[in-house]
Amino acid sequence: MGQILTAKCRCGYTVKSLNFGAGMMNFEDSCSVPALDRNTMEIVSRDLMKPGADDGNLSYYTEPEMNDGAARESPYEHFDRFIQRSRNYCPKCHQFTLGFEMTALYD
Ligand SMILES: [Zn+2]
Repeated sequence: MGQILTAKCRCGYTVKSLNFGAGMMNFEDSCSVPALDRNTMEIVSRDLMKPGADDGNLSYYTEPEMNDGAARESPYEHFDRFIQRSRNYCPKCHQFTLGFEMTALYD
């Protein structure tokens, strides 16, 4: 089951329609993960299993350094990948105040 997340920070930065995971039909060859594109400093969603999707300038929100480690809620998960609901790095205000809200599921 894939999840559609909205990234939202208290500074006002918002990004909608970020895919996390994959649907039932393509979970064996697809895994989308929200990531920070350090070229544009925008949050995007990239499919890890698609060749060429990662140009080396992506920091995935499943990586520990993208969160301050103090989140208390259980994270969103897709197999062995986890995204914290709160306290993620915001590319606009550079604080760990960005949250992810699930807005929909897809399969
Ligand atoms: Zn912010």
